Amino acid sequence: MPALKDPTLLRQALFIDGEWSQAVSGKKFAVRNPATGEHIADVPDGAAADAERAIDAAHRAFPAWRATTADHRARVLRQWFDLMLQHQDDLAMLMTCEQGKPLAEAKGEIAYAASFIEWFSEEARRVYGDTIPSQWSDKAILVKKEPVGVCAAITPWNFPAAMITRKVAPALAAGCTIIVKPASQTPLSALALAELAQRAGVPRGVFSVVTGGARAIGGVLTASPLVRKLSFTGSTEVGRLLAAQCAPTLKRMSLELGGNAPFIVFDDADLDAAVEGAIASKYRNSGQTCVCANRFLVQSGVYDRFAARLATAVGALRVGNGVVEGVQQGPLIDEPALAKVEELVADAVAAGARVAAGGKRHALGGTFYEPTLLVGVGSAMRVANEEIFGPVAPLIRFDDEADAVRIANSSEFGLAAYFYSRDLARVWRVAGAIEAGMVGVNTGIISTAVAPFGGVKQSGMGREGSRYGIDEYIDTKYVCLGGI
Ligand code: ADP
Repeated sequence: MPALKDPTLLRQALFIDGEWSQAVSGKKFAVRNPATGEHIADVPDGAAADAERAIDAAHRAFPAWRATTADHRARVLRQWFDLMLQHQDDLAMLMTCEQGKPLAEAKGEIAYAASFIEWFSEEARRVYGDTIPSQWSDKAILVKKEPVGVCAAITPWNFPAAMITRKVAPALAAGCTIIVKPASQTPLSALALAELAQRAGVPRGVFSVVTGGARAIGGVLTASPLVRKLSFTGSTEVGRLLAAQCAPTLKRMSLELGGNAPFIVFDDADLDAAVEGAIASKYRNSGQTCVCANRFLVQSGVYDRFAARLATAVGALRVGNGVVEGVQQGPLIDEPALAKVEELVADAVAAGARVAAGGKRHALGGTFYEPTLLVGVGSAMRVANEEIFGPVAPLIRFDDEADAVRIANSSEFGLAAYFYSRDLARVWRVAGAIEAGMVGVNTGIISTAVAPFGGVKQSGMGREGSRYGIDEYIDTKYVCLGGI
């Protein structure tokens, strides 16, 4: 791995109760660069006992942290934000080395991740309660907002920094303490964030990071009665499991799960803009985001033209090691991810789809896969129904608007949706008819810290970012003040 300007950001220890420590078992696991296979670090293979230590620390730290003023928490968060931007280059390099995304995208993610901390440092000061006109002349009705308590977050590898800050920042702003279990593929970004949080003045125990076995750590975090809330980003399958594990203690939950985003191109669309949006939505992070367009529904009148233009744009994407200047697409995260993409493409081709660009493992080897375009895809094929999480765009033909909406909504998922049209009435109708938590109209990029991110149906519950995001970490308390 290239040398960091600040080598102490490469941490290979658990961060619990404000201290760097090894796992109780002494075990470690290796972190590898998916672009090169290079062994870049060994981090503690934490388990149940480590998660319990973190919960105890978070529980002990909670009373003092909740008692701080909103202004104090805002300043600490602001300091953490500033530190992230000061160390943007190092944080991006760590991310590219453990995750594979191009360095420019990694820098973008660090700025995006930091923006949640900035946003919630500001929101910390705006957690207002209420007074309600009373039913009684001798009693006042007050509504107070209080932090939920000890929280836990389980985060994925596709956005190793942003998926952490958009949970930890609102939790800390609200006065909660929080424990993060990062994905095992990308623990280094999480540990570097903890290092900077400590430098920013986050007190011991308020934010801990436990790397290691998902089942053991997840099991303890979900079972503990001391943990009041779980926020999870990952697959729908694991989300269901965690919801079941949280049921006995009735924890509050935020779940950001899988998606199957439709990207609809109507006959009246601006095709150049649609191609540009398609590339941005589908191929960033090699297609490994939960809001990536998963299926393209293209109206008959523009189908062939859109397919031809998209094929040219897809063929021009530069694939390689993310640290190389100009590379636009890195490797997939690991071999199972690659095998899944191969399987879905093979299934589509066997069912009659045609490869218009890419379609196989990349000549670079490893887990690189060619940016791919499939035409003649049917809406019943697996590739149009399962989350691809890879650089494959399947194009489905449709005839009219009702058809497009019907196909778009025929999914258990409802995270993001995109469509391109210049007809104002249609824009309004379709934006209303689509079953999704987020809709991009004439754009392929929608994520920002200031807007509510989240899904409907089996894509999860709760919203992250925006003024709504802090509510996930706040309880509403009604106080009836009598005898007045
Ligand atoms: P992905 O497909 O993005 O890897 P997963 O849902 O498998 O999504 O993983 C997302 C996060 O959930 C990771 O941090 C992973 O370690 C964790 N995880 C996976 N399985 C479990 C489990 N059984 N219990 C708790 N956490 C889990």
